[in-house]
Amino acid sequence: MDGEKSVSRREFVAGASGLLLAGAISGSAERSSAGENAAPKPESDLAVHGGAKAVTDSAGSRKRWGETELKQLQSMLEQDSLFYWQGPQTKLLTERFQQVCPLKYVQTCSSGTAALHIAVAAAGIGLGDEVITSPVTDIGSVIGVIYQQAVPVFADLGAGTFNLDAADVERRITPKTKAIIAVHLTGNPCDLDALKALADRHNLILIEDCAQAWGARYRGKPIGSIGHLACFSLQNSKHITCGDGGVVASNDERFGPLLQKFGDKGGDRRKWGGFDSFATNYRMSEPQAAVAAAQLTQLEEIVAKRALLGNLLTAKISDLRGLIPHQVHPEDRAVYWFYMLRMRPDAFRCNRSDFVKALTAEGAPVSGGYIKVPLYGEPVFQKHGFFAGRWPVKEMGLTTMDFSKHRCPEAEAILETGIRVMITESMSEQYILEVAAAIRKVSKYYAA
Ligand SMILES: *Cc1c(COP(=O)(O)O)cnc(C)c1O
Repeated sequence: MDGEKSVSRREFVAGASGLLLAGAISGSAERSSAGENAAPKPESDLAVHGGAKAVTDSAGSRKRWGETELKQLQSMLEQDSLFYWQGPQTKLLTERFQQVCPLKYVQTCSSGTAALHIAVAAAGIGLGDEVITSPVTDIGSVIGVIYQQAVPVFADLGAGTFNLDAADVERRITPKTKAIIAVHLTGNPCDLDALKALADRHNLILIEDCAQAWGARYRGKPIGSIGHLACFSLQNSKHITCGDGGVVASNDERFGPLLQKFGDKGGDRRKWGGFDSFATNYRMSEPQAAVAAAQLTQLEEIVAKRALLGNLLTAKISDLRGLIPHQVHPEDRAVYWFYMLRMRPDAFRCNRSDFVKALTAEGAPVSGGYIKVPLYGEPVFQKHGFFAGRWPVKEMGLTTMDFSKHRCPEAEAILETGIRVMITESMSEQYILEVAAAIRKVSKYYAA
């Protein structure tokens, strides 16, 4: 993906002139560099110049599923129905979910995207309503918003948290704003006190996108338990998974009872017959629930290890002047779906691509940035081409949103200067110490 980066950026700039201007103003690492032409210092011991690698330990490997999943699937095969409604696997998954995130109403569903769509539908988000969220996230965060004919409004992010900046969220609140989707990017909890206070003050619904945040804690409380609705993903890349799946949950008596029907064609299965609302089919079947329920037994072990490794990395690089480590509140537990640090562009003689190249040569598991561009920079947003090339809510005059003019300068700068470090639970502390040593070695060499 990194190799395509310059091409995609060029294509993107051609399609959306000026979007990256803000990145340049805030000091893009890609541009301010002199490193491309800088000759290596003769005393260089960087691996990229032929020196010894800083990382010699192995990242390890871990079998993601085994006996526990097999047993659960075997017991499932004794059933004569694999349908979710009153299914034993779905019940078990729900109970285990509630041990992790104690919410009264829980609906299993087919993906994190589905969970988010169910949440916004249950919250009554509809035609022309505005939903404020992060532009640096999986597109699944806003697919449901757009399908509800509502308008995603992207707000800017904290420079080191990569999460919503509550002050910028407040600036973007209008009389049409109905909800905030707080994305806990990488499993680092958002500033939920500030966002909840905003939501309360402006009568907004707070939806937590916990897709990357299984097992995270906000001030000691389980992630997902602070907002009005919580959405989780069980997609293959997430901390725990059944290939594809999701969970949406709520304690709120206004929304919780609606989750089931918005995940299941608009019908309430507790009553007989009839459809009083409209929804698609987002059901999760029993085989997925069986695997997900088994996976949940490993959650604490997985996320405790990731939290330990991510925090260790921060401790070992936080004195490096030119780098901004991943910023986590000391009372929170981040679960590092990945780790991200940022380069201060003027602190180095090289650009990000050279920095990443040098780190990779050292054996560190890094890559530049995260998604290629903020969501509003994607062609479908730039062209407002959501429904057969059209966007009814704009054509009807119910929004003046123009994504080609939308700007979140910090978010753009984050994607330009961020360096992603892969963290997995199979890594040892020794491995992370070596990754930290690689970062130290490379940043010392390239220090301006
Ligand atoms: C993965 C992800 C989603 C979407 O989940 P799917 O299960 O892939 O649909 C939504 N939001 C975030 C932050 C994610 O990482």
